[in-house]
Amino acid sequence: MTTRRAPSKIIPRAFPGIKPNEIEELIANSQVRSYAPGAVLCRENAVEDRFYMILEGEVEVTKIINNTAARQLKTLGPGDFFGEMALIHNAPRAATVTATSSLTTLELDKPGFDRVLHSSSSIAMAMVSEISNRLRSNDQMAVDDLRLRASELADAYQKLAEQDLARREFLTNVAHELRTPLMVASGYLQMLQKGVMSGDQLTAGVDTVARNVQQIVSLVNDILFLQEMDLVLPEFQSVDMNEVAKNVTEKYKTKAVERDVSLRFAPSPSLPPVSGDSKSLERALMALVDNAVKFSPKGGDVEVRLNQRDEQVVIAVEDHGIGISKENVSRIFNRFYHVERHEDDLFGGIGLGLAITKQVIEQHQGSLTVTSTPGRGSIFTLALKKWK
Ligand code: ADP
Repeated sequence: MTTRRAPSKIIPRAFPGIKPNEIEELIANSQVRSYAPGAVLCRENAVEDRFYMILEGEVEVTKIINNTAARQLKTLGPGDFFGEMALIHNAPRAATVTATSSLTTLELDKPGFDRVLHSSSSIAMAMVSEISNRLRSNDQMAVDDLRLRASELADAYQKLAEQDLARREFLTNVAHELRTPLMVASGYLQMLQKGVMSGDQLTAGVDTVARNVQQIVSLVNDILFLQEMDLVLPEFQSVDMNEVAKNVTEKYKTKAVERDVSLRFAPSPSLPPVSGDSKSLERALMALVDNAVKFSPKGGDVEVRLNQRDEQVVIAVEDHGIGISKENVSRIFNRFYHVERHEDDLFGGIGLGLAITKQVIEQHQGSLTVTSTPGRGSIFTLALKKWK
């Protein structure tokens, strides 16, 4: 139940110093009205000519900012008034006013408002002071908005500058990575053309050309793969990770034998399928197995294990190779980061494998973690969402 408070008690709160005869004049020119919660009293941009003073209940004042969100400017309660700006300036409403509880108001139409304003100096003074306060707070709000926009612009500019730098670095890296195998291959091709090689030397020369051309092909394939992933999201399907892991270990069998590394695969018989793109997931796992074999010592062993953990399928690739130092762990996923030499060992690679794995796993909203101890080996773990 709302009790309508006597206007004569509330009016002096709004207009301090108002005289009894002015209160009477105000009441004589106004009417008391009630609204249910949710009722809209003023609508932003509407041309309306009513002045309101709250006797009981509350309203919220909102304004649309940047054509999108309505921002709450303030709440008003008993003794507060609104609607005078549009009446004095003959302008559309600057904000929307909505009742947030049962509401009782004292209201004046335009002629009544004009009469009261002419005859009561305390009401006129209170209006002037309220209007100047509102203008000041509107100015403050505009300044705050400008500051916010300026900082958003600065952030966007910074991001663009970073992207530009990354793009330039990427191009420089690609050119650099292409140059070495191209130079080697073209050097050998020139010698082949001149016919200065024969026998074992010739075979070794052709092998070198083939190896370097293969490196160029892999680099171009990796770049295209990364590029495509950036542009198109593959459609996810139900994927059996046992099958994917089996294919990958099959592919690396020969390489493991060549390096005298034992490559083991431990499938999980009751593994649920994951939600994903099998080609991308195969690529992601290939990079992990490729590294595990590559960075293992002669006679080392690599294991690919699959498990289910809660709602996820977990794939771990473990090796007992050179390991990764703490400070490098955060860099290994960067494009083109790679280590060429460790002690006397030289490793091939261009540093795109883990960048691909990371990107694929991010697209699958999975996780990729690594634990590693230098000299002892590494475990890379992928966790992927189960297919629903
Ligand atoms: P690449 O293998 O072509 O060098 P990657 O992106 O696959 O590129 O790996 C980046 C780097 O991360 C490697 O050069 C190596 O320094 C480090 N790394 C990745 N996996 C392993 C691993 N299993 N053991 C030791 N170091 C690794």
